Order: sequence, then structure tokens, then C-alpha cells
Amino acid sequence: MPVAEYAPPPKRTLSSLRRDLRVFAKYHLVRRPHDYPAPAEDDMGVELLGFDSATHVRALEAHAAHFDIATLGTVTYRERSFPISWVRNRAPADAPRLLVLSGVHGNEHAGILAVPRILSRLAASAPAVSVGIVTPVNPVGATEGSRFNGQGFDINRDFRRFETVEARLVRDVIADFDPQLIVSLHEGPQDASFIFANRHTPPGLAERAITTLDARGVLLASSDYFGRRLPAPGYAPVSLTNHLLTKLWAATLGMMHTGMYADELGLGELTLESSWRGREEERVLAHVELVCALVEQLAAGGAAQ
Ligand SMILES: [Zn+2]
Repeated sequence: MPVAEYAPPPKRTLSSLRRDLRVFAKYHLVRRPHDYPAPAEDDMGVELLGFDSATHVRALEAHAAHFDIATLGTVTYRERSFPISWVRNRAPADAPRLLVLSGVHGNEHAGILAVPRILSRLAASAPAVSVGIVTPVNPVGATEGSRFNGQGFDINRDFRRFETVEARLVRDVIADFDPQLIVSLHEGPQDASFIFANRHTPPGLAERAITTLDARGVLLASSDYFGRRLPAPGYAPVSLTNHLLTKLWAATLGMMHTGMYADELGLGELTLESSWRGREEERVLAHVELVCALVEQLAAGGAAQ
């Protein structure tokens, strides 16, 4: 099993601790760390792959023969409009439903660039699974190279108060599409890929998905982005402590991410975190293979197990 090897962590000093705490607070404790406009983020080493809204829409429309493609909503930034697309395959009405959220954080490009490739794979395999993809959830951030939206909000902290149009669109899609499972495609500063799952994710689903990723050449992380060792390569199962901390975080700071929101609805959600550094091919591969692995499992009745 290929597992990423890590350099020893840099020595901690008082000034590095201050910096780490500042970055931690900005990324995890604040829903709106910036005012308009959204800045490019470079303090955690993210490497952008390049995103252009019109090019992305064209890449989706190239698959119009097999998919229904619509504009879910539009956001405006600096007098430019950016579409958020909604793509669905044509599966039988009673097929299980998988909702894919791509690019909730705009500067995590791999999960967005993976979408046209996911469509190619789905067109070729024509699974009996209804797949709906929101892409990108944060088109302004994706264009500007920012984690945040055009108003400076972290959309993935806004699933309690729903102050952003992007979070409200996702909330409405969840209500209308009524998925059995959600997968949210992210990237992070760790050296390879890992998955975490909320409490309603069917037992065994994440483990089987990780086995498939491993078999298909996706490099699995041995630690998460806080440097904590994972119990198994590529997998950070949700602990009770973690769950309670997230609830506390929602109650005190009014913030909630999609995984916790899904949890409150009784819905399973898996989050992929690939490394936001390295070769584009490897970064995109993790997202394509995870979505395809979940589709295969749902087609085989995996959501009921
Ligand atoms: Zn993210």
C-alpha cells in the first residue's frame, strides 16, 4: 500500500505557535475572515491548478449528450456573473442518489477539474445510480484562487446561518434531490489523500472506497492536516469527541459544515481531502476515483449495508 512519508515537523517556537494559532483560527473558527473582495490565499502552501468559469462550463457542456446540465444559480463579483452548474445523469427514477459537491472552497481546484472526467467515466459506465453534481459551489473563490466566496465568507462554515447564496443553493439541492449520500470534494495541506465520514455514512462504505482508491493508485495519507496520525491510511473516522466538538462549535460560533448539516438531516456524507500540492494528474485522480468508487458501491446496494 503506497502511503505518504512525512518530513519531521519543523521545530515549534513561540512565533511559529502564534502563526499556527492564527492560521488555525482563520481557517476553522471564523465564518467570515475577510471583507469583500475574496483574496488569494497563499499562507498554507496551496498550489492552484487554474480555473476559468467559461472553460469549465464548456467542458461540462461537452457531455450534454449524456447529462442534463443547468445553471443552479449565479453569483456576481466585480460586475461579473459566475454560474454554479447543476449536472445530472439520466438514471432510472428509483436509482439511489449521490450528490457531489465540488469546490466548496474555491482554491481547492482538483475536485472541480475532476468533474468533466467524472462525467466521461459515468457516460461510459451508465450506472443505475442517479448522480447530481454542483460545480463549483464557489465559482468566485475558484476564479480568484480564494478559499472564500466573493463576500469573504467560508461557505463551509455557513450551513447553520445560511447567509451565503452558495450555501442556500446547496441546502435547496439537498432538499430537492434528496440524496442517499453526499460526497464533498476538498483539498488540504497534508501530503496525500484521506477521507472522513459523518455518523450516517453506511458502515463499511468509506473503508471499501479507500480500498478502491488504494487499488487505483491514489496515494493515501498517514496523517491528517493537523499532523495527527490516522488510525488507518487514508481514513479519519469521526469520533464521538469530534462529533461533540463540532456540535459545540455550531452552538457557540454559529458555524456548521456540510458534513454536520447532513448529519443533522440523517444523511451520510463523505469528505475527501487530497493534497493541494503536487502533480495535477495525481490530485485530480483521487476525486475521480472516489466518486466512481461510491457510484459503484451504491449501484451494488452499498448504501443499504
Ligand atoms: Zn476545503
